[in-house]
Amino acid sequence: MKKTKSFTLIELLVVIAIIAILAAMLLPALAKAREKARAISCTSNFKQIGTAFTMYVDDADGSMPSCFSLPSEWGGAFSSSNNTLNKPPQILFWDYIGGNYKSFICPSDPTPKNYDFWNFRNFDGKTELSSNGSSVIHNEPMFAYTNVRNYTLSNIPSPTLCMVAADGNHVLAYNLGVLDPMVTSIPNKRIDWSHNEQVNVLFVDGHAEMIRLLGISQKVIRVPTNTVP
Ligand SMILES: [Zn+2]
Repeated sequence: MKKTKSFTLIELLVVIAIIAILAAMLLPALAKAREKARAISCTSNFKQIGTAFTMYVDDADGSMPSCFSLPSEWGGAFSSSNNTLNKPPQILFWDYIGGNYKSFICPSDPTPKNYDFWNFRNFDGKTELSSNGSSVIHNEPMFAYTNVRNYTLSNIPSPTLCMVAADGNHVLAYNLGVLDPMVTSIPNKRIDWSHNEQVNVLFVDGHAEMIRLLGISQKVIRVPTNTVP
């Protein structure tokens, strides 16, 4: 009689162990690749915002979108003003972004909750971004001064290094320190996600790129916060 050869229990366990080891090695790589894909999609979002920003500035003869009367107006998504000079950012940007408010949601942000900035909620009844908000913070010092249409392209010190907006959330997230693990003086870090320890940043010259969170406050510049040019 022919004897059939079967696996012993030990052999079976060895095979299972090898599969488990291979899976353990592959899964983090897969997760990283998936995150990379989301990050690229996010960069694309910021490029769209950058295009809208550049078109706005072009139509405004080089002026940054700015507040008119309230220092917080640019961040003031809840502004009810209909004054042409006093429109909140989501209205200023609506035509330029082509109605694509989803550009303001990062695919890696599980709970978009920045509801003070870049929120299209209830704007003209056209759409509702999310009851929680967006994933984008902006460079508030560049936009928000009192009673002036303030910065123009010509007085932004380094358009290739100066931030317009970035991944981030929550109110008053204008300080890049909120994204920087090296800045320990800020108790409540305002980013709940990142793209493999990086975030997307949109710059004044319209380009967007991934920047490492660690030391970001040293790599990306803001305009001075205490002077009006
Ligand atoms: Zn993102």
